[in-house]
Amino acid sequence: MSERIIPITDARRIKPLPELGISKAGTSGATDGLVADTLGRKLRDLRISVTDRCNFRCVYCMPKEIFGPDYKYLARSDLLSFEEIIRLVRVFRRHGIQKVRLTGGEPLLRRNLERLITDLSALGTVEQPLDITLTTNGSLLAKKARALREAGLTRITVSLDSLDDETFRAMNDVDFPVSDVLEGIDAALAAGLAPVKVNMVVKRGVNDHHVVAMAKRFKGTGCIVRFIEYMDVGASNGWRMDDVVPSAEIVRRINAEMPLEQADPHYRGEVAERWLHADGSGEIGVISSVTQAFCRDCNRARLSTDGMLYTCLFASQGYDLRTLIRNGTSDDGIAEAIARLWSVRDDRYSEIRTAETAKARKVEMSYIGG
Ligand code: SAM
Ligand code: SF4
Ligand code: SF4
Repeated sequence: MSERIIPITDARRIKPLPELGISKAGTSGATDGLVADTLGRKLRDLRISVTDRCNFRCVYCMPKEIFGPDYKYLARSDLLSFEEIIRLVRVFRRHGIQKVRLTGGEPLLRRNLERLITDLSALGTVEQPLDITLTTNGSLLAKKARALREAGLTRITVSLDSLDDETFRAMNDVDFPVSDVLEGIDAALAAGLAPVKVNMVVKRGVNDHHVVAMAKRFKGTGCIVRFIEYMDVGASNGWRMDDVVPSAEIVRRINAEMPLEQADPHYRGEVAERWLHADGSGEIGVISSVTQAFCRDCNRARLSTDGMLYTCLFASQGYDLRTLIRNGTSDDGIAEAIARLWSVRDDRYSEIRTAETAKARKVEMSYIGG
């Protein structure tokens, strides 16, 4: 194991909450309402990692050399239970959370996930709807799409890095075929989860020559392909700037074959930049986390599988909300803790990324949630 790798247990370097003066009893809802961080960004979006395990070993996320047979995943007792997740989401809702994304690891590996989705969807109201979405590698989707929809899932994102079977098998590194993921996408569309978003992480020299084919395959299908710049998340993927294909180049390449027109974002802080097919047959998106950082509008908090709160995808430290849940802290106390933690946030990693920061110790994406 290289020195730069942080095993998950060690990666959970936690900032002690008492430093922030948080009491168990809280202040009876005094901190409820929208909460802004030091840069004025309001908390809107919560990503929850429901498992740190995965049945793929994508080379850019969970490389086999690190996530091998001896890798120590979280113990079952460390995981937040569904009841604990629901309690936390209920408290986050007091601060105006409008969207929950379930992720991981591979979220569909978590047993009875539909039950969690059903309970989450019960938290939405007419006045404060709750968008429940999920990011999956699609491997189990053909079987589960209908049940997920029936449980109340509103939208879904499926990751697929290439339509070329050989390339895809090499990238997921477990020899998983493209056809099964395509079947999962079809099942999601049939279950009424349109538009299905399809995420493709683009790595130069590995799959970038398949970008146009990907856009072509999903044009007019009700799917929106989103091309993601390869990021220096975690500390195990050996990221180099040379491997990144800038979004502007991706748009140029697709536009040369299928004319595109830029569209306005649906809302402030939308991660993907939208491009419409000029012939009206749908759209694509590009996520330029490296070349055009969007920290300025970043309103996302992340809850790790074991209940640590991270305020940035590139964080090296989290805040231990699980202890608050398990030590008798009231909902008011937890609401107050979340408000305080968010109010001291100053993260803007992608805006200040350098070759040096890219080498820093950061938590792995499979643990913190993508
Ligand atoms: N296992 C699920 C999946 O793959 O969709 C959910 C978790 S995965 C960590 C979430 C998203 O992060 C996926 O779309 C994946 O492609 C993306 N991702 C993982 N590592 C990445 C990296 N180094 N750069 C850019 N995106 C990455
Ligand atoms: Fe698993 Fe998703 Fe990471 Fe691939 S990107 S290894 S599918 S968690
Ligand atoms: Fe948000 Fe951190 Fe990504 Fe910037 S680097 S957009 S603050 S998650």
